[in-house]
Amino acid sequence: MKLAVIGTGYVGMVTAAVFANLGHQVWGLDIDEKRIADLKKGKTPIYEPQLEEYLKRGLKNKRLHFTTDYSQALRQAEIVFICVGTPPKSNGDYDLSYVYAAARQIGGAIKHDVVIVIKSTVPPGTGEAVKKIVQPLTSTPFDIASCPEFLREGSAIEDSLHPSRIVIGVDSQKAKDLLLKLHQPIKAPRLICDVVSAQLIKYAANAFLATKISFINSVAIVCDRIGADVTKVSQGLGLDPRIGGSFLQAGLGYGGSCFPKDISALISFAKRQGYNFGFLKEIERINRKQIDYFVQKIEKHLGSLKNKTLSILGLAFKPDTDDLREARSFYLIKKLQAKGARIKAHDPVAIKNAQKILKQVTFYKDPYQALVDSHALLLVTEWLEYQKLDFVKIKKLMKQTVIFDGRNFLPKEKLVKLGFIYEGIGR
Ligand code: NAD
Repeated sequence: MKLAVIGTGYVGMVTAAVFANLGHQVWGLDIDEKRIADLKKGKTPIYEPQLEEYLKRGLKNKRLHFTTDYSQALRQAEIVFICVGTPPKSNGDYDLSYVYAAARQIGGAIKHDVVIVIKSTVPPGTGEAVKKIVQPLTSTPFDIASCPEFLREGSAIEDSLHPSRIVIGVDSQKAKDLLLKLHQPIKAPRLICDVVSAQLIKYAANAFLATKISFINSVAIVCDRIGADVTKVSQGLGLDPRIGGSFLQAGLGYGGSCFPKDISALISFAKRQGYNFGFLKEIERINRKQIDYFVQKIEKHLGSLKNKTLSILGLAFKPDTDDLREARSFYLIKKLQAKGARIKAHDPVAIKNAQKILKQVTFYKDPYQALVDSHALLLVTEWLEYQKLDFVKIKKLMKQTVIFDGRNFLPKEKLVKLGFIYEGIGR
């Protein structure tokens, strides 16, 4: 089939690369000229396992093409995916201007009937709004559909090839048939529904996962007060199939480009429908407060943080990505700096992005260097390599051997045996 993918960020890039590798002809389009120039050369704009390999293969077998020109991208397309960003506004509301701008360009460029599929995470009703933008710009018939994306950064290719489900929101038989045909080789349950329900599924899914995280973080605080171990409590919960064990790891809370924005977008959307989604406001509040809770733990052990050297391990919002959007590291570092702490930091891949947004932080390519003369190690992102560090060596490098494990990730018993003071979250 012939596809166009509008927006080549995490979702667009992965969508384009995966469908090209499944044998389709794909044009990826972006307004960012540098990004398109890089992609044409086989350079990925983001760090994502396997993506570069997929990109290079797609370019080599001439199934994957890139352009900044809508007419070129849409010339033969049967399906057009909208994958542009839907960032939050400063008041927590959603910014749909990129989606609407893409819709205007699509409307001006389509010359034959297409199915326009919104993959960006958007509030219900956006399909109708896109239709109203495109309709006056073209005499060609078109359909609107919604295929929300559930991939996770860090395992995006695998998630796209083996998704938990494929949600197909359609209002026409033609769009349904075409999207079922496109997804035919991907084995996963299909859920066919209307466009509006498909869009709500995505928001509700992220809100539910964020709820699990804030729930277990609240349980962790109770664990701290009574000396219980939240890792055992969450295991005990997760063994109940009605609950499930995923997203029940206590820690510094959720970040990333999706959860924070999608939760506040759902709150805003509900408000527009006359419903106060107070439940989700509390989920957000718990998440925000989790950073303060961690800082209090550090102060309890170290006293005043003024002129204390603190070493942060992990900056990305989660492992296996260089994405720092809404990363907990950012908020934590800001709070620690406000209290006068000196920050040293390491991350396996996110330092380049971190340098753009974090000031007065000394970055190290080597985690051991980041720990020299430090008053405490703060584990913020659970990169696997941090479990394999040589803690005997680290003990000799640090000024004070205190570890604050913001993800309950490091081997507590081993560290305590080595003589470290270890403080997790609810552990
Ligand atoms: P991103 O910021 O990485 O990429 C968006 C891309 O769209 C950028 O390259 C930008 O230049 C381009 N763009 C903006 N306006 C454009 C236009 N008018 N025409 C063409 N290109 C344009 O965003 P992302 O992380 O890929 O997210 C895209 C959407 O998918 C969002 O709605 C997001 O919520 C959703 N989503 C993201 C993830 C994720 O893990 N990142 C997962 C599921 C869903």
